[in-house]
Amino acid sequence: MPLHDKNKLRANLLDDVYASSDLSVVMPKYKMPEDEHDPRHAYQVVHDELMLDGNARQNLATFCQTWMEPEVHRLMDECIDKNMIDKDEYPQTAEIESRCVHMLADLWNSPDKANTLGCSTTGSSEAAMLGGMAMKWRWRQKMKAAGKACDKPNMICGPVQVCWHKFARYWDVELREIPMEGDRLIMTPEEVIKRCDENTIGVVPTLGVTFTCQYEPVKEVSNALDALQKKTGLDIPIHVDGASGGFLAPFVEPELEWDFRLPRVKSINTSGHKFGLAPLGVGWVVWRDADELPEELIFRVNYLGGDMPTFALNFSRPGGQIVAQYYNFLRLGKEGYRKIHQSCYDTAHYVSDEIKKLGLFKIIYDGRGGIPAMSFSLKDGVDPGFNLFDLSDRIRSRGWQIAAYSMPAHREDLVIMRMLIRHGVSRDLANLLISDLKRCISYFTKNPVENKANEEDSGSFKHS
Ligand SMILES: *Cc1c(COP(=O)(O)O)cnc(C)c1O
Repeated sequence: MPLHDKNKLRANLLDDVYASSDLSVVMPKYKMPEDEHDPRHAYQVVHDELMLDGNARQNLATFCQTWMEPEVHRLMDECIDKNMIDKDEYPQTAEIESRCVHMLADLWNSPDKANTLGCSTTGSSEAAMLGGMAMKWRWRQKMKAAGKACDKPNMICGPVQVCWHKFARYWDVELREIPMEGDRLIMTPEEVIKRCDENTIGVVPTLGVTFTCQYEPVKEVSNALDALQKKTGLDIPIHVDGASGGFLAPFVEPELEWDFRLPRVKSINTSGHKFGLAPLGVGWVVWRDADELPEELIFRVNYLGGDMPTFALNFSRPGGQIVAQYYNFLRLGKEGYRKIHQSCYDTAHYVSDEIKKLGLFKIIYDGRGGIPAMSFSLKDGVDPGFNLFDLSDRIRSRGWQIAAYSMPAHREDLVIMRMLIRHGVSRDLANLLISDLKRCISYFTKNPVENKANEEDSGSFKHS
């Protein structure tokens, strides 16, 4: 190599990343590049692009965790190579998963916590599929044994998260979703009982409804189903969608009976990555006792060595989230979870009081009787020069992402704004948010919006 080429090569190696030839041109976006790129350059391009996502900590629309202790980051890194399905190769990770299931079974008062079945999943959605399938299979066994047709299964719920719409469609189950009516935004026992028949595979109350954050009345529904059974003989099971509440109520409201203390509750799902405080990608489903999970749904996988029962939709799956969940259990214990959640509830109450004082808003949910969150609508008949979609848009200029959305059937007319107060939303941060809200409102007072925004304009907030 001629000397001047060598010098050029050396100069290139020393280039600042932004002065490099890779970053002086546009990187390919939709076609795989033909050649390699320096890892530093590729990293910087990807890293920089992610800045445009906004700051997850300021996303008050999500229920999912956005702050982790440094130890969790370390464990996630140490587990990057662990495949959850290789239970024979990583028996200790499998053991840790099993311990988590047993801790949850105990936390939720299973009468057979040492032997009951359950598993980790990628989140509550997969867990809901598994819980729903078990209900459908059990119902079918019962109908077959009675010599009855089993081609028209139905399931009853209140305003549910989209995963139950998916369950119903994918597994061919009619969803009898109780619509909202006036100020009743969740299920009631009466509305449930009206919809029950012999084709009902189960009732699914939500502990922490996505739209309003309220808990549905599991015990009252269970009592009503007891009375129905006495009257008609229909024995309809309950699966609780505890995506959020499954990791809140046991610590903060231990006296609330919503779990396996009610014999009719046969299975429960929860999201580890919501109030379980684990990183994204873990959920759980646990059955009351082993009999509630039909044997035909369990696969015995033996080609990785050993004979391992599995019940899951996925095969390969990362193990780090599960290990991190176990870390949280050890690290925090019941007391640690209680303290974290209680401080979030206190902050939610505080934010709710502050927003009420602004005078323009009707508080829909003040953080009592559900998830640590709050929601509000504009007061009826008030036109402060903006609507909640405009406010959502404006507050984003300070980085805050707050969902504004309309309610599902029959309250599509009601538009609310909802804020989740999670681990990491300190009182200080809440105060900064409230100052920013005030600033937005006074901006709109001076500059009222002529063409107010609507749901379509407001982007793609999902009820995650
Ligand atoms: C978030 C949520 C789900 C879905 O859970 P993922 O863990 O996101 O899959 C289901 N039900 C309720 C009530 C939820 O809040």
